[in-house]
Amino acid sequence: SGKLPAHGLLKEGGRAGFQVEHQCLGKCQGLFVPAFYTQPDAPCVQCVECQLLFAPQKFVMHSHRSPDKRTCHWGFDSAKWPCYLQLGRKHQGTAEEAELKRLLDEMKEKFSYQ
Ligand SMILES: [Zn+2]
Ligand SMILES: [Zn+2]
Repeated sequence: SGKLPAHGLLKEGGRAGFQVEHQCLGKCQGLFVPAFYTQPDAPCVQCVECQLLFAPQKFVMHSHRSPDKRTCHWGFDSAKWPCYLQLGRKHQGTAEEAELKRLLDEMKEKFSYQ
């Protein structure tokens, strides 16, 4: 091991995105595209497995794997998606981690009016 993937930020037609993931009711990785997040229910996270786009609250309920039996999920509430959505592990421990975490926090606060 020791080889890092060559790609950093994914770019597509001038739109940049980065990897996010959740481990709720199964787990799933997706590509968050900030430019698509124009309203709270805007589909802006693309599942890396099926390529479908989901709004953040829908994405944390989306998975291709069955839930880990060791993980306790009582109290799961998709409205709390900001608590469940994390930066993708491929970005963790990299040079861009801090910047992407900041972008993710901005995304989580974008439509929160509390
Ligand atoms: Zn969970
Ligand atoms: Zn999927």
